Amino acid sequence: MKIVDLQFEESVSTYIKPLHIANEIAAEATNIRVSLLTDSGITGKGEASPSFRVNGESVPALMALRAQILEEVKGMSVLSYMLIFDVMDRFSSSSSSLKLAIQYAVVDAFCQHTGIKPYQFFGGRKEYVETDKTVSIGSLEETIADVEAIVSEGFNVVKMKVGEDLQRDIERVVSVSDRFRNISLIVDANTGYTAKEAVFFADALYRERCPVVLLEQPVPVHDLDGLKLVRQKAQLPVGADECVRTRYDAFRLVKNDCVDFINVKLMKSGLSDALAIIEIARSANISLMIGCMCESGYGISQSVHFAAGTGAFVYHDLDSHMLLRNTGPVGFDQRGAKLFVTGPGS
Ligand SMILES: [Mg+2]
Repeated sequence: MKIVDLQFEESVSTYIKPLHIANEIAAEATNIRVSLLTDSGITGKGEASPSFRVNGESVPALMALRAQILEEVKGMSVLSYMLIFDVMDRFSSSSSSLKLAIQYAVVDAFCQHTGIKPYQFFGGRKEYVETDKTVSIGSLEETIADVEAIVSEGFNVVKMKVGEDLQRDIERVVSVSDRFRNISLIVDANTGYTAKEAVFFADALYRERCPVVLLEQPVPVHDLDGLKLVRQKAQLPVGADECVRTRYDAFRLVKNDCVDFINVKLMKSGLSDALAIIEIARSANISLMIGCMCESGYGISQSVHFAAGTGAFVYHDLDSHMLLRNTGPVGFDQRGAKLFVTGPGS
């Protein structure tokens, strides 16, 4: 089960509707499919969904790392997968989505060899997770129409993007809350507010009794004092996303009492740091959600299996395959909001 080769392949998908988050609009996504070939004939597969905004990654730079990564891991056995994880941890700061793709491809090969499924490798705690679905920043009318469609598809948790215009954000969230009483809302500012704006925002939603279960990444990445202030002042649970990539980030936030929630994304952390963050959060009694970048149906299956197997997450934001064209579930089955690990190929 020794690694003999790595192949990288770019894959471009377009969004059904451009994804508008605070200060960024994306029309398409480029992912990298990784094949890890072993001397036993088994090929493990993984997908990287690079992010320049969050990870500082660019696709050409990641593609160019193939030869260097192969040099590091060639000849290593996927049965000693932690040794390969350790090698890939060195790529945490420069190419974390590629680190994930390699680490997942190793797990995939390990599972094929041993006859288990990835969610069993990760612990086998659950066989399905329930996901939310995301609403971009848009006009009030667009927002209402988008939420209406999401609710009619059977989703119970809706994630609303905010963070560009405080007053309009309050109006959008309050209007959705008034109209749809039986859903839970996650509001994600993607670093768009100052701490004072975030406290004002949270107060307004709390006063209006909006069913907001989580205010995600209200302030800029490095403003940990601001994040802590929002957590102390706001009457809503406060979570970190962009400012937690490694276990060291998570430890710093927990130690400084900055958050109620951490949003784990495999593309920010790889498997190794995601597993470490779960244990840090459990030890500190901090809650977890799992999110995604722009993964295809296969890329999302990595997080579905990870989330189901570890059973570690309160909320699941695993919807990118639904927002992109021509990329349905691979390795899991979807029924409404539920993502089952028992699909073909899982
Ligand atoms: Mg987020």
